[in-house]
Amino acid sequence: HAKDEGRSRFCYFSPSMQENALQRLQLGKDLRSALGEGQLSLHYQPILDLASGRIYKAEALLRWMHPERGPIPPAEFIPVAEELGLIDAIGTWVFQEATAAALRWRERTPDTQNQPGPIQIAVNASPRQFVKGRSLESLLDNLDSLGLPGSCIALEITEGLLLDEHPGVTAQLSRLSAAGIQISIDDFGTGYSAMAYLKRMDIDNLKIDRSFIRDLTTDPSDLAITEAIIAMAHKLDLQVVAEGVETEAQRERLTAAGCDFAQGYLFSPALPEAAFFDFIARWHA
Ligand code: C2E
Ligand code: MG
Ligand code: MG
Ligand code: MG
Repeated sequence: HAKDEGRSRFCYFSPSMQENALQRLQLGKDLRSALGEGQLSLHYQPILDLASGRIYKAEALLRWMHPERGPIPPAEFIPVAEELGLIDAIGTWVFQEATAAALRWRERTPDTQNQPGPIQIAVNASPRQFVKGRSLESLLDNLDSLGLPGSCIALEITEGLLLDEHPGVTAQLSRLSAAGIQISIDDFGTGYSAMAYLKRMDIDNLKIDRSFIRDLTTDPSDLAITEAIIAMAHKLDLQVVAEGVETEAQRERLTAAGCDFAQGYLFSPALPEAAFFDFIARWHA
């Protein structure tokens, strides 16, 4: 019995961990070929302007359809891509897809009664893309060669990037910002929130993490945090997006609190491009 206990106590690399590591290794191998074989795609989730009820923005979210395993969520494969140094290639592909979509969307969304102006596409970038590789450079190149204004694109980054003091991050953000690209802080409130960066950097908006939105209507602390973020953001001339809005009650509370935008299953999940356009047309009709 003691032997069993000893074994479980000292066997740090358990069979299940080994299985896990093997699985990640296999996943990485599969991911290397996924790009070339067209298994990745972008889906788009509408972001609603709360005051007008209209949709002017969408977040591009990466999807991987694995030939044997079916859909694999980004939370599972993005960390693997980062670990294996594949994130720059994937990020470059994401930017290429998003800018190509921005061009198509401009042609397709005239500024008429039922169609708002061009929809801005928010894309996620990993901190590693700021440290290594040339995916950010490729984003600027794409906009340039397609003749698109930077304002077509918003870049979602996380607070960690701004804390790590990577040399060059501030300069890169300034360049992107000078090109008209909006900068959003994703999952705001869950990182270290050393908010000094808000006054040093060219930030355009904050996305309140969905962990604060979930119990917004029942938990007074979540409401207090959300209202404080909105008040602070507005004083700093930043706009606020609430993530993970799932109920009408949350939407009402956020509207009352003066939140600018909302994104969540209450409106729509991320959809393939064609379905996204059907959704927009129905929404604005
Ligand atoms: P995120 O950027 O915070 O994206 C929002 C996530 O919340 C998405 O999950 C979205 O599907 C989900 N979501 C939206 N509305 C609701 C809601 O009402 N309720 C709930 N429970 N969830 C909601 P998804 O698509 O699985 O993406 C997860 C994360 O993966 C993203 O979080 C982002 O950090 C990362 N990711 C996705 N696409 C990319 C990409 O192209 N590049 C990079 N670097 N990361 C990406
Ligand atoms: Mg995001
Ligand atoms: Mg987010
Ligand atoms: Mg999030």
